[in-house]
Amino acid sequence: MQPSLIVPPSGLKPNLFNLRHQKEKVVIVMGATGTGKSRLSIDLATRFSAEIINSDKMQVYEGLDVVTNKITNEEQRGVPHHLLGILKKPNADFTVTDFCDKASITVESILSHNRLPIIVGGSNSYIEHLIDDYNYKLFRSKYDCCFLWVDVSMPVLNSFVSDRVDAMLLNGMVDEVRNIFDPNANYSKGIRRAIGVPEFDKYLRNEQFLDEKSRAGLLQEAIKQMKENTSKLACRQLGKIQRLRNIKGWNLHRLDATEVFRKRGKEADLAWENLVAGPSTEIVGQFLCN
Ligand code: ATP
Repeated sequence: MQPSLIVPPSGLKPNLFNLRHQKEKVVIVMGATGTGKSRLSIDLATRFSAEIINSDKMQVYEGLDVVTNKITNEEQRGVPHHLLGILKKPNADFTVTDFCDKASITVESILSHNRLPIIVGGSNSYIEHLIDDYNYKLFRSKYDCCFLWVDVSMPVLNSFVSDRVDAMLLNGMVDEVRNIFDPNANYSKGIRRAIGVPEFDKYLRNEQFLDEKSRAGLLQEAIKQMKENTSKLACRQLGKIQRLRNIKGWNLHRLDATEVFRKRGKEADLAWENLVAGPSTEIVGQFLCN
């Protein structure tokens, strides 16, 4: 069961009167793909009684849960998630304005239940538009925003996302992509833009006509492309976050999670708590009390 009030860590008292009469508060978790945004959002949501609004432009679609790396029900640990898997039609558009409209309504609804909205996802164009452009900066005028940026050094992240693609393969990624494969599909629309879909086009077109060796060759080629494109995405996302911080002056709290990725098992969990979850809890606790 979740407590119904926003509860900061011990020693800090939230001023709920101020919460309702000054600007209301929203937390935004940013970071490149694979850095641990979802994990952090769940850690915070269970500590502060929050609900999560997805801002990953591929995860708004239903399906391709493995390929898009959607958080599982088990990982959600009962925390309500919004704008996750809501689009049933694979070709549906979901523009930045659609995102802003839906995210704004959801933020209001979460706040009206006296809970903390946490916006989480890698689509920086959605977040930038919502915060800085939507309806003449309405969002900033209405809400205080606390930005958390989970950062991981690029070589370490590249190696992690490469391993993650291998894990996706074991989790049924190829079947998932085959299920939505359509030889006439447009890869610039809807969910088929997701990394892992266009990369498998050649393989899925030809697999039934090829011998085992040629099939394995095409599969390896698709996997290689998927890894490269995921690394490129991570690099682009990092560049966009740095621009928001350095050029646009967003006050991003950077949490360096690199050491977490260098460790395994309990040591990794401890590093996560010490370097990411713990400091983030402090930051959000202070933010809610101001
Ligand atoms: P852009 O303007 O480049 O689209 P953005 O900030 O709006 O950037 P990103 O989240 O960086 O959006 O997504 C860019 C592209 O990366 C998507 O169109 C898709 O091809 C791929 N992508 C993003 N998120 C995922 C995901 N979860 N799974 C698979 N592919 C993804």
